Amino acid sequence: MTSSLDLSVDIVIIGAGPAGLYAAYYAGFRGLSVAIVDALDEPGGQVSAMYPEKAILDIAGFPSVKGRDLVDGLLTQAAPYHPNYILGARASTLDHNADATVTVGTDKGHRISAGAVVITGGIGAFTPRPLTKGIDFLGRGLSYFVPDLSAHTDREVVIVGGGDSAFDWALHLEPIARSVTLVHRRDKFRAHKSSVDRVFDSSVQVLVNSDVSAVRGNGWITEVEITDKSGVARTLPTQSVIASLGFTADLGPLGDWGIAIDNRHIAVNTRMETNVRRVYAAGDITDYPGKVRLIAVGFGEAATAVNNAAAVLDPEAEIFPGHSTEQEV
Ligand SMILES: Cc1cc2nc3c(=O)[nH]c(=O)nc-3n(C[C@H](O)[C@H](O)[C@H](O)COP(=O)(O)OP(=O)(O)OC[C@H]3O[C@@H](n4cnc5c(N)ncnc54)[C@H](O)[C@@H]3O)c2cc1C
Repeated sequence: MTSSLDLSVDIVIIGAGPAGLYAAYYAGFRGLSVAIVDALDEPGGQVSAMYPEKAILDIAGFPSVKGRDLVDGLLTQAAPYHPNYILGARASTLDHNADATVTVGTDKGHRISAGAVVITGGIGAFTPRPLTKGIDFLGRGLSYFVPDLSAHTDREVVIVGGGDSAFDWALHLEPIARSVTLVHRRDKFRAHKSSVDRVFDSSVQVLVNSDVSAVRGNGWITEVEITDKSGVARTLPTQSVIASLGFTADLGPLGDWGIAIDNRHIAVNTRMETNVRRVYAAGDITDYPGKVRLIAVGFGEAATAVNNAAAVLDPEAEIFPGHSTEQEV
């Protein structure tokens, strides 16, 4: 993550999901400098937020790749070009400058001027649903993601939620944590049945019809109070609370940028241009007749958007980037 608030790059990418990360690679491949902004603290978009441990079966050339590994691969692929990651910041304003460049502002005070914008905002900026009772402990034992399983090694972990991420994290942390307790306010789960069965066959303690009623600690979380529907409370020694309560997604300020948006999607032409000059889009957020919302399609659109933008930024440049096999490794 970059610390500078003012930045000047060739292309600013809004959204660090699979399409945005691949756009960052392609911009680097074209010799263009990049800033990539995401509202979340972690790159990877829906993949990191909702299914990091799931096997994805339809990425071309990879018969099965874990979500987390796909995101790591995209970051590694873009890394040689040193994209500026601006994470935990929402792109909120777009200004057109007299010299035909654009400036994107964020809610954290960044001002990023660029020759072109590629919006890869998926279903909008994600915000994790907060664990209201423990919010003061965010970053001090409370987290919404598990970017690194090993951070929870030998800890007593409480996971809150009943969806796929909650169950996936329970299964992956069970072998390395001292204990794992999964707390859900209902007795039905949204997670895949096979994950639910595996959790019930494991040492994970599952507390249903229950909620976190208090989180206590001294600097760092030391215990969590869980109360069931009948009002019976129990206290568990805890060093990690993972709140997996889902996300809200919101296109928010993008709707005020003069971009043609219909039903939360941006209309693009075959160059992935929007109706606004020098603003392109790719991935789940785009719409056109026959659109298919898949990662594979987003990759193709990202390549199209960046290569067309490259030819606008430098009128001497070709749209076709040349083959990567012809580049020096
Ligand atoms: C449970 C599940 C399973 C799936 N399985 C598959 C599968 O097997 N195969 C497949 O191809 N697809 C699958 N998908 C769909 C796939 O995840 C999406 O197609 C893909 O993530 C879209 O990528 P994207 O980069 O366009 O957008 P996203 O992944 O949605 O990323 C968009 C990013 O933009 C950020 N953002 C948005 N607006 C702003 C803003 N104003 N400022 C800053 N940041 C912003 C968001 O925070 C987000 O991180 C699955 C989806 C789900 C939910």
